[in-house]
Amino acid sequence: MRGDRAKVYLLAGQPVESPRLPAGLHVVATPIGNLRDVTLRALEVLAAADLIACEDTRVTRKLLDHYGITTPLTPYHEHNAAAARPKLLARLAAGESIALASDAGTPLISDPGFKLVRAARDAGHAVTALPGPSAALAALTVAGLPTDRFFFEGFLPVKGGARRARIAELIRIPATLVLFESGPRLARALADLATVLGPRDAAVCRELTKLHEEVRRGDLPALARAYEDGAETRGEIVIVVAPPAEGSDQPEAGEVDALLRRALQRVSMKDAVSEVATLTGQPRREIYQRALALGNETDDGAAK
Ligand code: SAM
Repeated sequence: MRGDRAKVYLLAGQPVESPRLPAGLHVVATPIGNLRDVTLRALEVLAAADLIACEDTRVTRKLLDHYGITTPLTPYHEHNAAAARPKLLARLAAGESIALASDAGTPLISDPGFKLVRAARDAGHAVTALPGPSAALAALTVAGLPTDRFFFEGFLPVKGGARRARIAELIRIPATLVLFESGPRLARALADLATVLGPRDAAVCRELTKLHEEVRRGDLPALARAYEDGAETRGEIVIVVAPPAEGSDQPEAGEVDALLRRALQRVSMKDAVSEVATLTGQPRREIYQRALALGNETDDGAAK
């Protein structure tokens, strides 16, 4: 029976009893690698909740086993969320406490949970934050780049053309950029960032808090070269990119190309050239030459 379960967790092998948990949805951040990064409050809530909704029950089970927590788990991920959400809301309505966790880091940050939080709030249930690890903030703190203003982009599109178009939208943002990436896609993402944003300072933050943690600094072209070899980079990665240089009102390297690529998907070459010339103030003849060169490229940016 649910009520009979011991609501304890183990710290240094000693059982610690959790205080009673109020009803509602508790959004719990969990470690991004090192299991010791969990907070005491997270352990209390994970141990005391009636149910834990999490992305992959096997991943969250490892954390629970490490701390001797026996709370039941139920999957809540992008493929079952629409069906699972009404059931979770019904349990909240019945006065239960539910912890929401993701595989790693803070739920809702490039992870499921936004619609559940919104629905829980709309239904008048308490929603409580248990802050803790998040890969984006961890990377910002070690990248050595300005932190006064930052823009969290999350994952870039997988396809080359869409990825470069999205990066072009980031060119003018006067803030440090924070992007999520996976090992296999790192080289292509860095190459496109270098092409569109030019030689800005950046950092590749890999496997933070884990055994093979690594932070590599350099400008984007140098980082793109360092990772281009085809030898797939392993692990989880955050790319941090410095803001544009102050007072740079000329289009940056690649901006014209990126704008052209987007325009060419919508309109004729003549109209695209005219549109981009107006946007950037560059001579029409030069834009036309770039448009011709782009017409000879494959989707991944290589010459045909
Ligand atoms: N919600 C999570 C958070 O707050 O950290 C992020 C989830 S997102 C699906 C996963 C991405 O986060 C990875 O692809 C990687 O970009 C980044 N990430 C997660 N753990 C990391 C780590 N230990 N080191 C570097 N990046 C990490």
